[in-house]
Amino acid sequence: MTHVVAISPHLDDAAFSVGGYLAARARAGDRVTIVTCFTDNVARPTGFALACQLDKGLPADVDYMELRRSEDRDACAVIGAEAIHLPFLEAPHRGYACAPALFADRRSDDGLLAPLTVALGEQIDRLAPDRLLGPLAVGDHVDHWLVRDALAATGADHLLWEDWPYLRRAMAAPDEPVRLRYALSEQDRAERLAMCAAYISQLPFQFGSTENLQKAIDELKEERLRSTAPRGPDGATG
Ligand SMILES: [Zn+2]
Repeated sequence: MTHVVAISPHLDDAAFSVGGYLAARARAGDRVTIVTCFTDNVARPTGFALACQLDKGLPADVDYMELRRSEDRDACAVIGAEAIHLPFLEAPHRGYACAPALFADRRSDDGLLAPLTVALGEQIDRLAPDRLLGPLAVGDHVDHWLVRDALAATGADHLLWEDWPYLRRAMAAPDEPVRLRYALSEQDRAERLAMCAAYISQLPFQFGSTENLQKAIDELKEERLRSTAPRGPDGATG
């Protein structure tokens, strides 16, 4: 049996970005595992981290991450995937204190790359994926870049998905070469929608409504997986 492992930064990214492909693989009898990196709790979030919860309409006393882990288990159940949650904290808990900071440079005091690389290496050894997937980091979210860089640092072969819905707002197509074009069937779109709709707390913020989510997914023709472009000696992508 082929084992497909998706390394998701947040609780929703894999389903949002590559849910149709994962659904199709599961339907074809493959084993599918979604490992999500940033899922840990903070007992009493404050400041921007608390604001990220309150602006989703959730009061301060709700266990926001437990709610999202439970949404993720529901999303994985749609296609019979296994959900694994790693205990790393999202950027708002690591000193990124406003929305623009989430899409700016990595903080010099953000020491997560090394432990995340070790943790992903352990998961890859244990899960032994035949196909390993992760984020391209379209949209430049610092957490998505951390996962992309950590995956690269493990040395394991992998392909990168185009982060969605960030891709919808991107000005230009990514530079990295496309390695796999997966044409979505009606059933893929339906299962992708069911998976995405399980992340109830994120839908108003990301899409406005479930109807808008459905419309956006209906417009999708394919999901693309890319590989990292080789870097030239001057560090420029070649
Ligand atoms: Zn994300």
